[in-house]
Parts: sequence; structure tokens; C-alpha cells
Amino acid sequence: MSQHHGADGDDEYGLFVDGAFRSGTSGDRIDVTFPYDGSVWATVPRGTAADVDQAVAAARDAFEGEWGTFGGSERRRVLDQIADVIEAHTDELAELETRQNGKLIREMRGQMESLGEWYRYYGGLAEDLGGRSIPVENKAETGGMTVHTREEPLGVVGAITPWNSPLMLTTWKLAPALAAGNTFVHKPSEETPVSALRFAELVAERTDLPDGVYNVVPGYGPEAGEALVDHDDVDKLAFTGSSTVGREIAKVAGEQLIPVTLELGGKSPNIVFESANLENAVNGVIKGIFAATGQTCVAGSRVFVHETIHDEFVDAFTDRASEISLGNPLDPDTQMGPIAFPEQWETVASYVDRGAEEGATVAFGGDRPNDLPGECFIEPTILVDVDNDMTVAQEEIFGPVASVIPFADEAEVIDLANDTDYGLAAGVWTEDMRQANRLVERIEAGMVWVNEYRAVSHKVPFGGYKDSGLGRENGREALEEYLQTKSVWYDQSGEVSDPFSLG
Ligand code: NDP
Repeated sequence: MSQHHGADGDDEYGLFVDGAFRSGTSGDRIDVTFPYDGSVWATVPRGTAADVDQAVAAARDAFEGEWGTFGGSERRRVLDQIADVIEAHTDELAELETRQNGKLIREMRGQMESLGEWYRYYGGLAEDLGGRSIPVENKAETGGMTVHTREEPLGVVGAITPWNSPLMLTTWKLAPALAAGNTFVHKPSEETPVSALRFAELVAERTDLPDGVYNVVPGYGPEAGEALVDHDDVDKLAFTGSSTVGREIAKVAGEQLIPVTLELGGKSPNIVFESANLENAVNGVIKGIFAATGQTCVAGSRVFVHETIHDEFVDAFTDRASEISLGNPLDPDTQMGPIAFPEQWETVASYVDRGAEEGATVAFGGDRPNDLPGECFIEPTILVDVDNDMTVAQEEIFGPVASVIPFADEAEVIDLANDTDYGLAAGVWTEDMRQANRLVERIEAGMVWVNEYRAVSHKVPFGGYKDSGLGRENGREALEEYLQTKSVWYDQSGEVSDPFSLG
């Protein structure tokens, strides 16, 4: 593995504030572990409220300083440079991601290879950022009144990200935030802080992004995270993680009266109709729940299957699941890696037990394989005899556990699919496109894939209905989340106005 340069030596990272590594004020450190074998391979400072204070002050200075003078074209140039940096370091960044969270190197490499597109896309939007000219009636006879709008940045963004796709979920916030002209303080997950720190270092070394625009304070959620959320000089919050923490963050944003983007959990339905191409549907369901070891917010964890093909589908699904190769996530041939850390393994295993207690049958998996190291492997797990009211069908498990639920007709499956607090994503497998369109209209979810699952693009809005979130990431919509509108009225008529008439 290539060497890195923290404030305190190789693989001992500092926090990254104002363009350089610094030691944390507490002196305490957090271990970063490779979940495949449990080995500790890096440490980071345990960030405190004082560290967050310094980072926010640096971000404020940068916002009011050089970065604030950059026009859209200059921001585009810097965003292109960031894309170049990522593209020149895909292997290194992908390896850091895998060593932190155990996700497959092949998936992390794929993510790193595409990440530059986000910076290029939002760079293009930055260059094109303008307001509107609005015709108004006032003084129309003299043509004296003109109105236009300006799209302005919000200021300092406080961003909190989870462990499952660390740099990708950071990029979904950072790229539009920078394009809009904001500065950024980032608290990555305690499990996966290294890739953000190394990325910040690379960006500082190799691009013209001014110091203080991107700051990274690693630490614990209830400590550094809360300090960032509560900070009264932060102008916007952006969060990906659990709905429980998201709700708390929304409350603080409400108190502070600042906007917040929340990308939260899901319990997404993946619906297989009798007309579906079965092989394609099985592969799509596997992709939805076993890719990324189920640790994805869009996991298709509720698999609804038409009752006429239920048994045939379950046979094909269990056969296919039995072929999945578990192993070292750094091996490009591995198809499923470990769970990211032991506590999350316990959570996943306890849900499997709970399912069995409530009447589900484990049709495949459910155990720790005994031929693999560490404490974090669990077999791909298929539960049948599941009722949509059971805990395993209502709560987000965030692991490779599929609940298969039969349905009789379209109306029933729409009701079942929507019978959840969440509304992030859905999959529909059918060769009948009229049927697909009916489902698309009636499913309460921010994203619906038809004969596909888990596709994302920098151009396509991503976000949830109901308890799955607020606002959108990706696409033009995300840029709006980091802007505020100023309306400017110019009276060029030269007329003396009447103080008691409006307009
Ligand atoms: P959390 O929501 O607890 O954590 C996400 C981020 O928020 C982390 O950086 C965490 O820091 C931080 N955080 C935690 N508590 C606070 C707080 N009080 N104030 C500010 N920031 C805070 O998710 P977990 O990582 O603990 O995972 C728990 C569950 O959340 C999973 O099992 C899954 O169901 C769901 N989840 C959903 C994700 C999604 O993509 N929608 C992603 C990850 C998890 P730290 O890690 O240091 O505690």
C-alpha cells in the first residue's frame, strides 16, 4: 500500500483544516480497521468541538476570502482539476475505501473511476450558473423597471457521511456545494475517515482549490458530528445515514433555520411479476440485496414475487445465492465481502434471529461461514414465509438479508410495497410495460428502476420519499440545494415614486 502523510507520520493521519494536516486538540485517536481480518492499519484524531470550531472558522474565512472571488468558470477549472486528481489516483483511493469498510475492490474501483464525472458535470453547471430575467408590470409604460435573479451560495456547508460508500457519498455533496461556491466542513464516519483525509490532501497538493474550502474533521457522531450540526456559523447541513440520526439533525436545522439535505434509509421493494424474464429478475434481485453485502441505502430488501412463480423463483434465487463467492474484498474475483464492522454484523445476525422468531424460514444462509477470517462475514441470506408486517420486512437491516413475500395481484403488491415508513427506491420486473407504468405512477419512492436495479448517475436525481429523506442529490436538483436566490429590482425610469403605493 502506498504511504500517506498525516500530521503524526505515515498512516497516522491528522485532521485536515485550512489546507494542511493538524493534530487534534484532544490527543485521542481512533483506530481504522480492515474488516476482512480485523487488523488495525491506520489511526485518525478523535475530533472535538474545538476542532470543528477551527474548521468552520477556516471555511468561513475561505468563503469570505479568495474562494468568494472565483467566478463560475474558475470554479469549473478547479472542479476539473479535482476530477483529474481522482482519475490519477483511482487505484489508491479504491484500496483505501476497501481497507476501511471491506467493500469489494471491484466495486470501489468502479466508483472511483466514475467519481470524476460528478466534478466535471457540476463544473459545467457552475460555469452556466445564472439567474433569470423577469418581466414585471411596474412602470411598464416607461420601460423603467428591470428585475433579475442571482443564484448565490449559502456559505459554510456542514456534511456528515456514513461508512458504506464514503467518497461517493461525500462527492454527491461536495461537488454541487463547490460548484455553487460554498465552502465545506466534513465529518466522515468513524469507521471510514481515511479516504476523505487522503482525498483532501491530494486536492490541496494538486489543485488550485484555496485552503479552507474543503476541511475534514474525523471523529464520533455524538461528538464531532453533533458539534458540526449545532455550530451556529454553519449555513447548510447535508447528511447521509440512518433515519434516526437524520431526524435529530433536521430538528437542529429547524432550530437554526438552515436548510438541510437528508439521504436516509430504505426498505425498498423489488417486485417480480409473472411475465418477468426470470433469469434477469433473479440477477437483479441478487444485485439489489447481495451486492455491497446489502450495505446500501437502496438495498432491495423486500422481494415481492407473484404467487404463481414464487416457488420457481425461490429455487433459482437460492441456487444463484449458493454460487456467490465470499472472500477477501481486495481480491477482484470476490463477489461478496464482509460486513463493515463487528457491531453491524451483530445487528444483521440479530435480525435473522428475529425473523425466525416471528415465523420466517431461512431458505438459505443466515450463518457465519467457518472458512473465512475475522468476525464480519455472514452468508447471503434468504428468508421466506415472510409477512410484510414482520420486523425483518419493516426495519432497515443494512446487510445481505432478503425477505421474499408472495403477492396475488397488482393492487395487492402496490399496497404492500407502499406499506412502509420508507420510500427510497423500488424495482419492477415485468415484460408488460403498461403494467410497469402503472407501478411507476403508484409506488411511493424517489427512484423506480424497471428491469434494472441500483443504477445511479451524476445526472439523475437521487433521494427519498417519506422517511427516506429530504431534498435530492445528483442532477441539477442537487445544485439547487446549495444555492439561494436573490431578486434584484432596478428602477431605471428616473421617476420620483409615490411612497404610499406599492411597487
Ligand atoms: P448513523 O446515521 O448513526 O451514522 C451516519 C453518520 O452520522 C456517521 O458519520 C456518524 O458518525 C454520524 N452521526 C451519528 N450520530 C450523530 C449525531 N448525533 N450527530 C451528528 N452526526 C452523527 O448510521 P450508522 O453508521 O451508525 O449505521 C446505522 C444504520 O443506519 C445502519 O444500520 C443503516 O440502517 C443506516 N445507514 C444508512 C445509510 C444510508 O446510506 N442511507 C448509510 C449508513 C447507515 P459515526 O460513524 O462516527 O458515529
